[in-house]
Amino acid sequence: MECPHCQSQKTIKNGKHHHQDGKAVQNYLCKGCNKRFSERTGTPMSRLRTPESVVSLAMKMRSEGMGIRASGRVLEKSHVSIMRWEQKLAEHSQQWSPSAPTGGDVTIEGEEVYTRVGENLPPSESKGWTVTFIERKSRYWIEAKAGFKNTKLFAKATKTAWQWSKASQYIRWFTDGERRYAQQLWQMASVRLKSTEVSREYGHRKVWRHGLEVAIKIKSSQGNRRVEWLKPEHPYTAISDKSDVHANHNEANNSALRRRCSAYRRRQNLYAKNTEGLQRAVTVQRLVHNWVRPHVGLGKNKTPAMAIRLFHRPVSMLELLSSSGFHCLTN
Ligand SMILES: [Zn+2]
Repeated sequence: MECPHCQSQKTIKNGKHHHQDGKAVQNYLCKGCNKRFSERTGTPMSRLRTPESVVSLAMKMRSEGMGIRASGRVLEKSHVSIMRWEQKLAEHSQQWSPSAPTGGDVTIEGEEVYTRVGENLPPSESKGWTVTFIERKSRYWIEAKAGFKNTKLFAKATKTAWQWSKASQYIRWFTDGERRYAQQLWQMASVRLKSTEVSREYGHRKVWRHGLEVAIKIKSSQGNRRVEWLKPEHPYTAISDKSDVHANHNEANNSALRRRCSAYRRRQNLYAKNTEGLQRAVTVQRLVHNWVRPHVGLGKNKTPAMAIRLFHRPVSMLELLSSSGFHCLTN
């Protein structure tokens, strides 16, 4: 067993401790750094004495749309415990958020979803916004960032989505809304062409990276929709058809989000009253969506993580809770 603190292989077994259901968890001592750890260190289950079967059930209830209090009542656990478990899983989300495979072909859809959070504030003052990015074909949910609707929120989510997708060869980047949201992407993803790379007739020297095209969908007050491509594309990048830009799978994703994530359904929401609560719930939702729950539209028993070729099989809720990332799962 490798030491999670110093990566030394010189570790020895050091007794066991037990969960409430009697299940033994192996402890270790590292001869390299003298620290103790257990087989659960570095996983969401670390330092919990509740059986993982109970925590797993709680997370399943939550990801099927049950509220925190209702889940607690069914399992005869306090709602504070449920929140803590959810928090622990959310804290490990990085281990389940690898980048897109190198050389692929992705369509990124970005959008904002609104929910009522805390007091009854007008939408412009509410913290109940979530910026989501999904990959269209695989339905892989790249990012969900909750907070105030402002440039900072969108900039953060944009950065994550770009980091996720940039190893892909072809990237179609379609978002709803305002032009300013693409500014962040332009800074990260534009290149300067050499005079030898492009003829004078092309008229642009600073362009999107090769393979990347960026369009926004604008809804006018009359309800008309139009597509606007932002900034010049690289001269060798083919541009998509407008109907491709309009095709929107995010809307289906949003309705699933509302159905399965209780934080998005409530009018009076006790636990999504702060951004942290909303972020926690939506992060768990995202992990379950990507790794655990097969998606009907993808074919038999296929998760989004499988569809985008990050992993070869669905991951169980137990594995999500008791391992430190998909790369630690052997079979
Ligand atoms: Zn060590």
